[in-house]
Amino acid sequence: MINSQWERIAGRLRDEVGDAAWRSWLRPVVVHSLKDGAVRLALPTRFMRDWVATHYGERLRALWGAEDPSIRAVDIVVDAGATAAGKTALAKPTLVASSAPAAIAASPAAPEVEELGAQLDQRLTFKNFVVGKPNEFAYAAARRVAEAAQVSFNPLFLYGGVGLGKTHLMHAIAWHIREHDPSRRVLYLSAEKFMYRFIRALRSQDTMSFKEQFRSVDVLMVDDVQFIAGKDATQEEFFHTFNALVDQGRQIVISADKSPSDLEGMEERLKSRLNSGLVADLHATTYELRLGILESKAEQMGVPVPPKVMEFLAHKIASNVRELEGALNRVVAHSQLVGRAITLETTQEVLHDLLRASDRRITIEEIQKRVAEHFNIKLAEMGSARRSRQVARPRQVAMYLAKQLTSRSLPEIGRKFGGRDHTTVMHAVKKVEELKASDQNFSEDVDLLRRMLQG
Ligand code: ADP
Ligand code: MG
Repeated sequence: MINSQWERIAGRLRDEVGDAAWRSWLRPVVVHSLKDGAVRLALPTRFMRDWVATHYGERLRALWGAEDPSIRAVDIVVDAGATAAGKTALAKPTLVASSAPAAIAASPAAPEVEELGAQLDQRLTFKNFVVGKPNEFAYAAARRVAEAAQVSFNPLFLYGGVGLGKTHLMHAIAWHIREHDPSRRVLYLSAEKFMYRFIRALRSQDTMSFKEQFRSVDVLMVDDVQFIAGKDATQEEFFHTFNALVDQGRQIVISADKSPSDLEGMEERLKSRLNSGLVADLHATTYELRLGILESKAEQMGVPVPPKVMEFLAHKIASNVRELEGALNRVVAHSQLVGRAITLETTQEVLHDLLRASDRRITIEEIQKRVAEHFNIKLAEMGSARRSRQVARPRQVAMYLAKQLTSRSLPEIGRKFGGRDHTTVMHAVKKVEELKASDQNFSEDVDLLRRMLQG
């Protein structure tokens, strides 16, 4: 049964990721076993394992969950003997990475705590974290928590968009404490896993030992806490655990994709608790930070990557660090597989699918056309001198979007709108921002337009 599930999932993935990626990364996957709601897959090398876990791990879990709701985790292990042709059984998996942040680690130090938490990724240390303007505050706060013998702020709340380094900083804190103060018990887990444990305890009517286990740690770290938004019973339990630990002077570190105040579906009292320590956000990366990260990763991999290639990648792949790493890995993997040096040409070739997506340049003309259609005015009004509200507002929206979605300067934008002055464009941008903040309908309208334009 598990094999037929995999066939269906593999078929889906093949459509989703394309033939080339499928052949390189997914075809070699060997389905190993299904046990306790976790599917175990094997790949022949650590590199491939890491690659598949970071790039397809979440998707694999989602697809498998859709096939069979009892499956909560997909673990990917390294088995040198695993080939899709000759399926070998795994006697002893060496390395385990889990897509559900739910791999169970065993450590002789404090097994009862370890069993609750998730495995720490060895690469996610402070040493490997590249610091730049967008993350220096979060980094400093994380370091402080890791180094302080006394609790200085509680909780430390880290937030930011996907792939900006929240999990990395949390693992780094845990590693640091383990290394420098092994007697302190650190528990790291995802909010999802917290919930899963809690529900299991409820089901087996064993909430007492659940509570005891959680309340006996020195440092509790809960990743992606937005996951328990809207999950009232779990929130309630989390709230109590949180309070019990804070009262005992234990350190808590939380991460989420939004600030405490912006977390929807969270109880007010929990929000205010989360807000009561130090809140530090990770901002979107800058070009300099991306370049620094690439240099550091290339060095770690011990692979010579020409500066031009790194500049190119830092410029083109601006979404988040995970994608950036993924792109670099692909380029490196390709060069190792075919045995050729990395050049700008091979980079463009290997990443053409990725680059095509980010390459789509939105033009001011396109924006004007879309906005005019949307507000039902003539395209010519974009450049006309008419100032009635009916045409002025759409024109301002178009200027605003031109500023947001293209790299044109204010004077250039002004010129395209009937030769207007750059201060007019500046005013339009400000006006639209104000309106967006005060009028939700308007704000949704503008966001919709933006999404349509970004296609
Ligand atoms: P998040 O938890 O915020 O979604 P992660 O911590 O998982 O993001 O980061 C995604 C990937 O990017 C990880 O492999 C991480 O090591 C890497 N990364 C993010 N920020 C940095 C950084 N400043 N320096 C080095 N690597 C980083
Ligand atoms: Mg994370």
